[in-house]
Amino acid sequence: MFQLIAGPCAAESKEQLLTIAKQVSSIGGISYFRCGIWKPRTRPNLFEGVGEKGLSWLKEVKEETLLKTLVEVATPLHVEKALSFGVDALWIGARTTTSPFYTEEIARSLKGVDIPVFIKNPLNPDIKLWIGAIERFNNSIKNDNSKNIFAIHRGFSLADNGKYRQSPYWKIPIELKRIFPYLPIICDPSHICGNREYIKEVCQSALNIGMDGLMIEVHNNPEKALTDSKQQITPLQLKNLIEELIFVKQQSLQNSSILSLRKEIDDMDFQIMDILKRRMDISLSIAKIKKEENISILQVDRFSNMLKTRLEFLGESSPISSEFIKDLFELIHQESIRIQNEKMKE
Ligand code: PEP
Ligand code: MN
Repeated sequence: MFQLIAGPCAAESKEQLLTIAKQVSSIGGISYFRCGIWKPRTRPNLFEGVGEKGLSWLKEVKEETLLKTLVEVATPLHVEKALSFGVDALWIGARTTTSPFYTEEIARSLKGVDIPVFIKNPLNPDIKLWIGAIERFNNSIKNDNSKNIFAIHRGFSLADNGKYRQSPYWKIPIELKRIFPYLPIICDPSHICGNREYIKEVCQSALNIGMDGLMIEVHNNPEKALTDSKQQITPLQLKNLIEELIFVKQQSLQNSSILSLRKEIDDMDFQIMDILKRRMDISLSIAKIKKEENISILQVDRFSNMLKTRLEFLGESSPISSEFIKDLFELIHQESIRIQNEKMKE
């Protein structure tokens, strides 16, 4: 089932929560009403969440709107409090997933509990940390029919995040899907974008690759929000967004023209690999000569010139980006150097 999760970044007051929740629930199809009770802040003395009293507000929200509730927990004490107030599901924040000490402790405090846990990716693009956290919760909570574990893709902190607050770096959630095909992955465009202008495009990219849900920050007055004010949208904007998004079909492909185009792609990929192998064979012949003549493997001028001519060949009108060509030839060149090094050792 597609998971649509919405709610403010943080609980600020009972009125704020109830106002947002009522408007959000009128949209229909909402799986969980999210809100942060304890807010992880990069620096001290910023708004750190309302704490436990937010849980009692959330209980009222649930009674009044019948929405299921979802909060972030970062310590066993948070878990205990959230469970005692009847919260329906928990999420593990990006900063928490980064530390195996924390995830282990929280997972242990949920031993045998039948509750959905949504695990955000770690801040750094390390898929192993994400998998480790997923495994820890999977081993600890009650998870009949694998219905209780979800991953949330909230973007990664790279040296250059482009126009986004966090890089989507889609290859990591795609790799997670390859490793765990049945694990639902929810996209959190709000924390990826950091700016509401881009939310729609990131949602659509997530839907296009078959992600299983969206978690979107919604506030009745985003400009005045105490946290993440630039990225939150109003309930009305959420309603419009959902109407505008194209929910692509998820079933496996039967369309015959796509199947035959895929066959062409398969053939081409094998040709590319064959050419690469032949190219590396030539590198080996060069390595042999370099060894005989005692010449260094790395010829910096040659590599710079190689990149320059490849980029010129690409031209301006190609849909392929020059960054991709640069990355590709850097990789090919690295592999060629590695192979030549091996040859030199013989
Ligand atoms: C949040 O969802 O409000 C949050 C703090 O997210 P993250 O852990 O992804 O930064
Ligand atoms: Mn937030």
